[in-house]
Amino acid sequence: SRKKYVGGNWKMNLNKAEAVALAKDLATKVDDAAPCEVAICPPFVYLDAISQALCEAGNKTIKLGAQDFWTAGNGAYTGEISLDMLKDVGVSVVLTGHSERRHVIGETDVLINEKNLKALEAGMEVIFCIGEKLEQREAGQTDAINAAQMSYGLAGVTAEQMKNVVVAYEPVWAIGTGKTATPEDAQKAHKAIREHLTSMFSKEVADGVRIQYGGSMKPSNAGELMGQADIDGGLIGGAALKADDFMGIINAAK
Ligand code: 13P
Repeated sequence: SRKKYVGGNWKMNLNKAEAVALAKDLATKVDDAAPCEVAICPPFVYLDAISQALCEAGNKTIKLGAQDFWTAGNGAYTGEISLDMLKDVGVSVVLTGHSERRHVIGETDVLINEKNLKALEAGMEVIFCIGEKLEQREAGQTDAINAAQMSYGLAGVTAEQMKNVVVAYEPVWAIGTGKTATPEDAQKAHKAIREHLTSMFSKEVADGVRIQYGGSMKPSNAGELMGQADIDGGLIGGAALKADDFMGIINAAK
């Protein structure tokens, strides 16, 4: 059976003192007895300090993730951060395809595919985000949008590499809005996602992939969501910024 996996996407929040304090607090609370795998994805500029804080706390359980990266090796890419740089400061997980990068920053499926391929080649674990917008849901396109984002985003990824891929289903209308998909609606989408992974790879591969739900997950709804057959954890925004809320979600991942 799949081990549940809860990730914290801190997005563009917190100052350095707050970010390090949150990581230190989590380091005392998350150990190998946690019911799930745990990753935190702070802003770039705090990664190094947080990596050191986790190390000093002796915490080897919490995985450190980055919210983005550039696909090329080190060189003339003003403003960008390479996978080598991230590895150098202890990052082992990267997010790709997040709706804020797709719809606010303007990342295309082609770029997201390149990011997935490069990150996997570099040995990173990839949390690959997909999800439909409100008007797409209302037009009954949820499963088709998710399938298309997977077909584009995971093109060229091997079955072996899929062991390092986590899919995060984040319906765009549920992100930061307080509106959560019902457990039944989320399960329906997750089941269709797994079926599409089966058609792209194999049943064996699809059965091994963790599919996280993201979008206004909090301690009070996490248990019911993660209790669904195909919901293997969560990718948490707002509630990942408070240790108590994040721990409440982690502890709901039975
Ligand atoms: P919220 O939990 O704030 O809705 O954000 C979800 C998300 O986008 C995680 O990547």
